[in-house]
Amino acid sequence: MYFSKAIYYDGLTSTPHPVELKYDENKNDISFVTADKIDHSWLLFSCIVEIKPHLLRISSKDNTGQQIKVEDLQFIYHFNRLFQEGKVSWYTRLLRMNFLKWILFISGFMVLIISLYMLFLPVLSDALCSVIPKDVDNEIGEKSLNSFLSDYEIDSNKTVVLNQYLREIKTPKNNKFKIIVVKSKEINAFALPNGSIVIFSEMLNKIKHSSQLNALLGHEISHVTHRHSMRSLCKNMFTYLWISLLFSDVSTVQTILAENAYTLQSLSFSREFEKEADFGSIDLLRQNGLPVEGIIELMQIISVEQKSSIPQFLSTHPMGNKRIEYNKKEIGKLKPYMIQEKKVEKLNEIWGEIQK
Ligand SMILES: [Zn+2]
Repeated sequence: MYFSKAIYYDGLTSTPHPVELKYDENKNDISFVTADKIDHSWLLFSCIVEIKPHLLRISSKDNTGQQIKVEDLQFIYHFNRLFQEGKVSWYTRLLRMNFLKWILFISGFMVLIISLYMLFLPVLSDALCSVIPKDVDNEIGEKSLNSFLSDYEIDSNKTVVLNQYLREIKTPKNNKFKIIVVKSKEINAFALPNGSIVIFSEMLNKIKHSSQLNALLGHEISHVTHRHSMRSLCKNMFTYLWISLLFSDVSTVQTILAENAYTLQSLSFSREFEKEADFGSIDLLRQNGLPVEGIIELMQIISVEQKSSIPQFLSTHPMGNKRIEYNKKEIGKLKPYMIQEKKVEKLNEIWGEIQK
């Protein structure tokens, strides 16, 4: 901050008004108070500045003819130095920075780039995923399923009956859904992009009622209809896919995705996707005229299991009271609808078969 005596001309008369001038080099402005106690503050970039060895003249650009004159040599010297520096371009300033400032600048720049990347990654990877045709979902899903089944034994009987069960539920038309039950002590279930829903036998053992199975199926079906595994795969491999797209075309992207199909089974979804699948399940059950309370029961069953062990299903499906709460709230928003008793009966009947 620099101070000097100066003369102010109000542009109306030629009377000189002595004022105390303040120059703030950080804000790059000058300010002063006139005898009538009016505060004046002028940003220098909106003024005409003339600097001569013995005189500094600053005129406002607003056509009022207001002007400030300074004859204080020391003030003119400092003003000249700082004002010229203020006009230096940003890249010259960058070049003049010392080592520490450079480190700070580069770190700040990196944080900015990473933050922007994280912020726009879901949107960009979704955009990339949207150009991938549905056939690729089927191809990748099939590959992933085959690679998974090479390590597990299928429970053929339960698979047949569960598919019979699934056929009683109206599912979105754009996917062909099928269920595969595998023998395993893990409590787990997942869906693949081709509509295959894999249910582990132990998961089936934990389910006590058909409404809980409906909730599980609705959840997995919603993962497929919202393309959650394809979108997560695109997000995980975004940088790689994007570079490939720069040098090649969509078919290369499809090949890369297909090569990584085996990673689909262990993919964990974001909380946002899980919430979307839960709400999708509620919606699907409502459309089918089935009760939705099974969703809460299913989560309570899994919460109990969570206390004794951490099953695979939980590592890919985040649990917790919060999730139960938002689902209760969503169910509370539903308008009353007709329960299709006959359908419920039929499902219960098949459910009885599954439990044998
Ligand atoms: Zn899920």
